[in-house]
Amino acid sequence: MKSRLFYTIIIAFTMLTTENEMKSQERPALNDLTADEERVIIRKATEYPFTGLYEKFNDKGTYLCKQCGNALFWSDAKFDARCGWPSFDDEITGAVKRVKDADGMRTEIVCASCGGHLGHVFEGEGFTAKNTRHCVNSVSIDFVPEVIGPGNYGTALFAGGCFWGVEYFLQKEPGVVAVESGYTGGHVKNPSYRQVSAGNTGHAETVKVTYDTRKTSYEKLLKLFLEIHDPTQVGRQGPDIGDQYRSEIFCKNEEQKKIALKYIGLLKEKGLKVATQVTKASEFYTAEEYHQDYYFRNGKTPYCHAYTKRF
Ligand SMILES: [Zn+2]
Repeated sequence: MKSRLFYTIIIAFTMLTTENEMKSQERPALNDLTADEERVIIRKATEYPFTGLYEKFNDKGTYLCKQCGNALFWSDAKFDARCGWPSFDDEITGAVKRVKDADGMRTEIVCASCGGHLGHVFEGEGFTAKNTRHCVNSVSIDFVPEVIGPGNYGTALFAGGCFWGVEYFLQKEPGVVAVESGYTGGHVKNPSYRQVSAGNTGHAETVKVTYDTRKTSYEKLLKLFLEIHDPTQVGRQGPDIGDQYRSEIFCKNEEQKKIALKYIGLLKEKGLKVATQVTKASEFYTAEEYHQDYYFRNGKTPYCHAYTKRF
């Protein structure tokens, strides 16, 4: 009788763990799209040539699907076809699906994971040895400055004071594949550090985190974010004073918003006067090169951030 009870407990425990593991491996929710993104990704329109963010862009890294985070193309497949759109002569195996276009002439390419429209593929033009041109709308893709493997990646945007410190703690976290310091939440396009520091762009110093959804989750990263800065400070973080140092979580979808509100609620229950704002994500602008990996490159440790266990 005793051993039967023992096995029942073991089985129940195993089921519980398996369920938790499955939950942490769930694919994150699709990102909300802006009107421009929806026009291209859902309604299959084409962005105006020579206008996209990645048309003349040659950094080393990986291009992800804007809607679902699926890794689509590596930068070494990118070439300049002078056609007005980013061009790639190869895709990451299995990431892109070819579909006969409604016009009966061209071949449309969609994300194999979410079906989002990417553009068209052409063969036999002789641009490169692979003789293939994936002609992709910039608006359908997002860029990560790391060469990463196939799979689905999540993105989180956290503002919690000086971005050097937030970046320092998040980039050490297992499952995080890239962190970038930048600006979001304001009304000025392509702002400079100087403009943001002047305090009237509306932007917050923000860290964009790209993570492997098989190894970590938004929930885990969000909890860590709330533990590496002081979410009760208003319009500042430690010695850094100004609206650009405010605490804010910029959500890519409703799922992220739900998780952010849940943990802020838990902190409030514990008596913390949380000032962290939860808002919908808008365009993220990568900061100047010298702000990236600041502490690691300079061999220093943060003056403005520290880990405090809160959960
Ligand atoms: Zn996708």
